[in-house]
Amino acid sequence: MSKPAVKKSYTFQDRIYLYEIIKGLGITIRHFLANVRASLRPGPHTIPTTWQYPEDRTREISPLFRGAHMLILDDQGREKCVGCGMCARGCPAKCITVKRGKRKEGQEDRYVGKTYCTEFHIDLLRCIFCGYCEDSCPKGAIMLGPEFELAGYSRDDCQLFKDGMLTNFHRAMEEGKLRPPRKPVKVEGAAPGGSGTGAGSSSKSPGGPDKQADKTQQ
Ligand code: SF4
Ligand code: SF4
Repeated sequence: MSKPAVKKSYTFQDRIYLYEIIKGLGITIRHFLANVRASLRPGPHTIPTTWQYPEDRTREISPLFRGAHMLILDDQGREKCVGCGMCARGCPAKCITVKRGKRKEGQEDRYVGKTYCTEFHIDLLRCIFCGYCEDSCPKGAIMLGPEFELAGYSRDDCQLFKDGMLTNFHRAMEEGKLRPPRKPVKVEGAAPGGSGTGAGSSSKSPGGPDKQADKTQQ
């Protein structure tokens, strides 16, 4: 048998609802004044304005942001990547594939090292944007950049290749969003002699070197 419904008794104050309206207006006014105060403070993240995205892409992005990967070129426009595959070994999501090739004579103006990556592939659907690839790279050749438009209509749209990484680099340069490399974070109790930074400092990759060896091919 169902219980009889208990009718709540309302006071006069409840019934006229005036107190609740005044309470709500008080909250609105408090937030309005807080926004006015914030808009008077200097700094891009404290001004509550509407950004006309995507027409306006000038909004400052936090230096901590980790977006789509970039392959870094040196001051002379040469690729810094030597195709060593350390980033693939350090990647916990195992979403990087690198193929290495030998630099030919006359290509010194294109590649810094004697070897370079002929192919570079990152599956962005598996990437967790942890930045370990950046930490693992001995040449500072890969960086997670400011590019945040990562949505796609198919799986193929979410695959990042060498050309796309170079495009991301040039775009960040043009928009003045290239940040200096992140400072390495010291790991407590790291083995002496090691760099003690991120995943790259570990002598064993999360998946084990053997498991990752097939990721890097000559
Ligand atoms: S950011 Fe992390 S998950 Fe993504 S490719 Fe780099 S190491 Fe792998
Ligand atoms: S670790 Fe650096 S140099 Fe080695 S393949 Fe990756 S991006 Fe290139």
